[in-house]
Amino acid sequence: MQRLLSHPAYKMACDQFDAVADFLDMPVALRERTKLPKRMLTVSLPVKMDSGEVKVFLGHRVQHHLTLGPTKGGLRFHQDVELGEVAALAMWMSWKCALADLPYGGAKGGVQVNPRELSTAELERLTRRYTSEMVPFIGPQTDVMAPDMGTNEQVMAWMMDTYSHQIGHAVPSIVTGKPVSLGGSLGRKEATGRGVAFLINRVVDMLKMPGDCRVIVQGFGNVGSYAALALAKFGSRITGVSDVSGGVFNPKGIDLVALQEHIERKGVLADFKGGDHLSNEELLVQPCDVLVPAALDQVITEKNAGKIQCRILAEAANGPTTVAADAILRQRPEIFVIPDILCNSGGVIVSYFEWVQDLQSFFWSEQEIFDKLYRILGTTLDTVLREAKAKNIDHRTAALSLGIQKVVRAKQLRGLFP
Ligand code: GLU
Repeated sequence: MQRLLSHPAYKMACDQFDAVADFLDMPVALRERTKLPKRMLTVSLPVKMDSGEVKVFLGHRVQHHLTLGPTKGGLRFHQDVELGEVAALAMWMSWKCALADLPYGGAKGGVQVNPRELSTAELERLTRRYTSEMVPFIGPQTDVMAPDMGTNEQVMAWMMDTYSHQIGHAVPSIVTGKPVSLGGSLGRKEATGRGVAFLINRVVDMLKMPGDCRVIVQGFGNVGSYAALALAKFGSRITGVSDVSGGVFNPKGIDLVALQEHIERKGVLADFKGGDHLSNEELLVQPCDVLVPAALDQVITEKNAGKIQCRILAEAANGPTTVAADAILRQRPEIFVIPDILCNSGGVIVSYFEWVQDLQSFFWSEQEIFDKLYRILGTTLDTVLREAKAKNIDHRTAALSLGIQKVVRAKQLRGLFP
């Protein structure tokens, strides 16, 4: 555990948990049992590169708790992936699933690789090797993976194929976020971003803000791009966007169609002509109505939390706000925080729908999926806000304490075996 604790993201997840446990007056015996990851697996992945050379990558999977059903969570391909970060992300998945009442524990996987540096064939060999190393550890009733940063539908299709070959028949329920033609769910690709947009629109209405909000989105991947498109469709003005190559800012509004065409051609946002170019750090502190961090964790820190200029902070990324930044935000009641485990939960909710559809081999219409998704998101938002008001606590503490208490109650009811 010491090795995990040396990672800032894991320390952050533990600090958040400890603060909530103190608030709930949780008995010490229950704390460790609820906080620590149940199972962790690290594997080395030898992969033949196109040059003929063999490179070894490191892969992890952390299953945080198995009290309520299989574990659920994405697989991340990123050059900085470490076990501690994966464990933190698994813990956040636990509270996220519990908050939305999904019958899952949290999990996360990661491979230390920059997927942009691999050819498609190399990426496929890496994915298949990771999946086959994971076969004893995962299963539709044990642990179900999904896309996360650096992975996508194609990666899920290779995983489903590799797993199915080992089992001897097609097992679509082993992953979610697959292509629809392989048993994926309609709406899954857009679900996280559209869920973020739905919650922002609800809060904009609640705060009686004008409909043509100025929105800055940090990160234009699967989540950020669909959130921006959905918000623009409902009348918001996207004034700032960024990706790994930097940010673009235009107070008049960015032409998202032109931006998407540019990214399709060039691979990144750099050199896009539709606005002024800023760094990711500069973009975060520009004036706007809604700020959407939709990339890495720990981007709102004690350095910039006092400087951000938004009315709504919608946390589309996992863990974007550090504990120190949170303390500053608590002194800034003018900022309405939609905490990550609520804000980005649309993805895992539709993953749950996909898993249910796969298990029953009966598929729903897109309308049904979004109706059900928005109903869950709306109810959960109301529950979190009611809890925050009743207990006079911030939105993150309310969301985390609701999620954590559900896991604790389940553990108490099941009891200890043997
Ligand atoms: N990777 C996404 C997340 O962090 C989705 C996980 C899933 O769908 O299982 O919530």
